[in-house]
Amino acid sequence: MVHMAEVVVVGAGIGGLAVAARLAKQGHRVTVCERAAAAGGAVRTLEADGFRWDAGPTSTTLPAVLRDLFRKSGRPIERYLDMRMRTVARRHVFSDGSSVDLPSGSRAAQTDAVDAGLGPGCGASWTAYVDAQAETWDILRERVLDPPDGGDALGDRVLARRLKARTSLAAVQKKAFKDTRLRLIAEHPFVLAGSQPRDVPSFAAVDAYVERTFGLWTVDGGFGQLTNALVDRLTERGVALHLDTEVTALTTAGGGVTGVEVHTGDRLPADIVVTDIDPRKVFGALLEGGRRLPGYRVFRSATPAIPVGVTHLGLEGELVDLPEEVVLHGEPLLVVRTTGSAPPGRRAWTVLRRGSTQEDVLITLVRRGIDVRRHVVTRVDRSPVDLINETNGSSYGLAWAGWRGHVQRAGQTHPVPGLYLLGASMHPGSSIPYVGWGAAQVAARIGKA
Ligand SMILES: Cc1cc2nc3c(=O)[nH]c(=O)nc-3n(C[C@H](O)[C@H](O)[C@H](O)COP(=O)(O)OP(=O)(O)OC[C@H]3O[C@@H](n4cnc5c(N)ncnc54)[C@H](O)[C@@H]3O)c2cc1C
Repeated sequence: MVHMAEVVVVGAGIGGLAVAARLAKQGHRVTVCERAAAAGGAVRTLEADGFRWDAGPTSTTLPAVLRDLFRKSGRPIERYLDMRMRTVARRHVFSDGSSVDLPSGSRAAQTDAVDAGLGPGCGASWTAYVDAQAETWDILRERVLDPPDGGDALGDRVLARRLKARTSLAAVQKKAFKDTRLRLIAEHPFVLAGSQPRDVPSFAAVDAYVERTFGLWTVDGGFGQLTNALVDRLTERGVALHLDTEVTALTTAGGGVTGVEVHTGDRLPADIVVTDIDPRKVFGALLEGGRRLPGYRVFRSATPAIPVGVTHLGLEGELVDLPEEVVLHGEPLLVVRTTGSAPPGRRAWTVLRRGSTQEDVLITLVRRGIDVRRHVVTRVDRSPVDLINETNGSSYGLAWAGWRGHVQRAGQTHPVPGLYLLGASMHPGSSIPYVGWGAAQVAARIGKA
């Protein structure tokens, strides 16, 4: 428990916004500095010619994290957002022409859908794989994800053995699936997020269990609404949000943080600084002497997860009717997200591409059976480098490097009094639910004023 503190949050990504809302409700005086002209980081809306696309996420698991955030920062989420569980999480389409519409939130529906799409017996095989993650989820949640420094727990040999931490996802899948299409379904989220299945520890397979058990959720009107709702929360709670304000240094005295310096040279004093940015920037650039701290050594050895290439399309005319998300397996891996909003009679799609090809994504789509070339009226391309520049680091966080991935993410605190680290590269991990979870942990550590 600390007295009312002056808190500066560096970065208004979803993590920074979430921790600011919680800390303000806990009675602290909070200022958020954001380098970009708008809040949200990866979670924002892009607009062109009347089309609107989510720049980043279009769905989330573990909706309880967002519900808890809104309840603990003042009001129920339903006052702000229409969250809806997707009945079909996504369609998987394979190179042999077969496909499956995988539902979320129901064990029986998943078994039936996989049988119907891939053939009898495949459903049972998939369901057995997902069922096997139930115990892992319980252990992982209690011992690794929930405790603020839980990543360190994987150093415990007994726990690591129980979680089969040193076995790779690739090895588990090889054993579990005779049908390679099931393997592709299971590994696609990790491949999309920039990791190789051989580098992903087997316990990460819990993601399939989490999605099946708690559902895959979306926000009607796009995830930009989530950012808008959080910005409204901050305004209501008297948080100062400074846009176009890059933090260029953390100031220190006697080894502890005393505030931040921004690009204009102005200084903002603070008792506590929470960063929601790439930790290598924190230790490598912002903190004088940071390169000598253990935190820097940890992150220097970690590999950032390279983002995907993104193409936003504004389309008109008669189009094939697709579900909200379609995964087109092959090299490169394509994911079509059809949830953007568009003027009447038009459609807004986003295509994510993971792979090294130079081929235009519209041509790759044609080769996968979807030809929209005649329908494109607007197009916005964002390369992986563009995405990194937009947020000053990878919003996908760190690539998996075996079980050590969790240890690399471990610490939200480092031996700098008053400094807390949050975000996609930190414990408990990247994506909306885990970054939101981390914000709850950091706010709990700081405590009420
Ligand atoms: C294309 C794409 C699709 C995705 N799809 C999904 C999905 O469907 N579901 C899901 O759950 N997740 C998805 N993700 C991942 C998810 O969006 C991220 O993991 C999450 O939003 C990261 O939030 P964050 O707060 O850690 O950081 P970021 O969103 O990276 O925000 C960091 C913020 O800090 C600011 N900043 C950086 N340096 C400074 C500085 N020195 N001073 C001030 N401000 C600074 C940046 O400008 C940025 O606004 C996707 C990501 C991408 C890129």
